Amino acid sequence: PRTMPDAFPDHLADEVARVADQASIGLIRFDPQLRVRTANLAAPHTLERRPGALVGRSVMETFVDHRLEAMVRAASHGQVGTYESEAADRASLIVRAHPAVGGGAWVTLENITELQRLRRIRSEFIDNLSHELRTPLANVRLLTEMLSDDLAEADVPERVRERVATIDVETGHLVQMINELLDLTRMENAVVQVRHDELALAPLVDATIRRLGTFARRQGVTLTASVPDDLPAVRGDEERLDRLLLNLLHNAIKFSHDGGEVIVSADEHPDAVVVSVVDHGIGIPAADQARVFERFYKVDRARRRGQGGTGLGLAIARHIAEAHGGSIWLESTEGQGSTFSFSLPFA
Ligand code: ADP
Repeated sequence: PRTMPDAFPDHLADEVARVADQASIGLIRFDPQLRVRTANLAAPHTLERRPGALVGRSVMETFVDHRLEAMVRAASHGQVGTYESEAADRASLIVRAHPAVGGGAWVTLENITELQRLRRIRSEFIDNLSHELRTPLANVRLLTEMLSDDLAEADVPERVRERVATIDVETGHLVQMINELLDLTRMENAVVQVRHDELALAPLVDATIRRLGTFARRQGVTLTASVPDDLPAVRGDEERLDRLLLNLLHNAIKFSHDGGEVIVSADEHPDAVVVSVVDHGIGIPAADQARVFERFYKVDRARRRGQGGTGLGLAIARHIAEAHGGSIWLESTEGQGSTFSFSLPFA
């Protein structure tokens, strides 16, 4: 809220306070001495206090949390802050602090316990669904393979063989999609923890390039690595980082033109190592760039070059980069190519 009851004539201040009491988000205004001046009804409720219990309290008495006290103090000096508190025995809150006009700070309290419950239900649903789909699909796959073998010796028209081959390919996609979906939900729920080993990037990049060699040759794409030998080690999980690189490289090859080149480079920045995968392929339109990291987002289903993807590769890549304390981003010009980069903290 930008409104400040103090700044209004009395009748308006009352009205603003009444409206604030309707809000489900807790609102607290601390005066310049950092004592609670006003609080709406939701504020004590969110903090599990009696109504009216907050007025006059200090920041520490209000939140009983040193980090929040520091944040509110910083806000009173002009610095906006956000904090997510997640105590097991208390409601999960997002707390935001803003400087108040005339000194002090505004604090908003948002209870996200219900949101987290819904997120949990969503991932349990995906997890169960993927599990349930996996077994029958594995059977379909096996039966299709057996059918192909049977047909190899049978006297059937070519188109029958082609149809069975298509069923085989599509089933393969389904299996891959379900496996990736399961991986992603497991990672998001931190079922498997990310390791924090000290890792050298050069061998990791080389290994990934080797693994994709056949695919690159088949697509007519040259793969090159440019990783300085004296690059500092990073902190990370080898298997996950391998997956992250694999996903970026696989896309770079898939969306390159025949005869194209894909370059993987790594550079030392002040506080992190940045790895980039550069291609000169079809590029990504500006309007789609913000969305390609979402699950199942594909720029244009029609322009794929034969290899169907699952649309999950970049969602997984983003998750891995963030789980390492890094970030991932892209620069791209349609028709000219794309550069996907991610940062990793030093070991
Ligand atoms: P997919 O399995 O479809 O590749 P991703 O999540 O890996 O799924 O990528 C999402 C979409 O982003 C792709 O379908 C494609 O449209 C676009 N994309 C990703 N990488 C590139 C790239 N290097 N060049 C052009 N488009 C890309």
